Amino acid sequence: MITLERVNKVYSNTFHAVKDISLDIKKGEIFGIIGLSGAGKSSLIRLFNGLEPVTSGKIEIEGVDISELPKRELLNKRKKIGMIFQHFNLLKSRTVKENIAFPLEIDGWKKSDIEKRVRELLGLVELEDKGDFYPAQLSGGQKQRVAIARALANNPKILLSDEATSALDPKTTKSILKLIKDIQKKMDLTVVLITHQMEVIREICDRVAVMSKGEIIESGKTYEIFLNPKTDITKELISYVPPQEKEEIEYIKKAGNKVIKLMFLGSVAGDPILSKAVKKFGLDINVLGGSIDLLSAMQVGHLIVELIGDIEKQDEAIAWFPSLDVGVEVIYNGI
Ligand code: ADP
Repeated sequence: MITLERVNKVYSNTFHAVKDISLDIKKGEIFGIIGLSGAGKSSLIRLFNGLEPVTSGKIEIEGVDISELPKRELLNKRKKIGMIFQHFNLLKSRTVKENIAFPLEIDGWKKSDIEKRVRELLGLVELEDKGDFYPAQLSGGQKQRVAIARALANNPKILLSDEATSALDPKTTKSILKLIKDIQKKMDLTVVLITHQMEVIREICDRVAVMSKGEIIESGKTYEIFLNPKTDITKELISYVPPQEKEEIEYIKKAGNKVIKLMFLGSVAGDPILSKAVKKFGLDINVLGGSIDLLSAMQVGHLIVELIGDIEKQDEAIAWFPSLDVGVEVIYNGI
């Protein structure tokens, strides 16, 4: 859907903001680009819709190299790429309805068609009762909903999000991310979002690329990056993520019985891994508790279990779980 081949952006012949980036973003995917401030994320995303020209390299959208497009065709292509921003960029003197109608007016839609489409979009972002309000009368979350409706007015296939939730509180952030995810499904959108917040990536991204000093330093499926971050920057970004509600487990520590937390990744969550472990290591396993977290679309099961039996076998089991892609954290080491 979106392919970048060795893309570079150099400002004023001096500042190399995007260095040799290659990416392949699939149709229907929610792809996150994360990095600290100044990493080059905004510079990169502005290249996706030709808001800025690339210095070298190729960007293909649905097989069309946008860096080669004549201006008029680029403008047409850009209509099919919606974009939302941190500060919403709404027109203050226009009502919600008029803001959403704006791209349709520019595109020469008939008045009656505009009215119909604006009503649909207000429904989509659940702002049916706010159509005649002005931006100043709305909360941050509502403003971003208006911006999303406006970005989607022309039925784009791609939505670019430039720190769209950075100015919002955590609860509003969640509701906007949920909206983006719902809309992605409904409209079969491809979403590319940039953010400096790993919790945004965790919430909705299928895959993520980590950017630093203009380069992509690691990339992969979201849950893989969370479970096995390779670079210090990624580890640092993950360390800022507020902990998910911790479940308190009450258990009586028994000397010789280790207590471990097992983290199952979606695909293996249903496997009879515990009974395999019981047979393989001759242990008893007592399940103390568990919960299911949602990492992007992937369900991740956490189980807290007590291992009962030979202590060396317990250690062997602890070493064996990761070979089945099950994460292990020792909570009580039996001493
Ligand atoms: P991020 O979005 O990750 O915070 P940016 O892409 O905004 O990073 O900025 C990356 C670097 O590129 C910064 O050092 C910034 O000063 C520089 N930069 C961004 N835009 C321009 C520009 N138009 N001209 C010159 N330098 C720029």
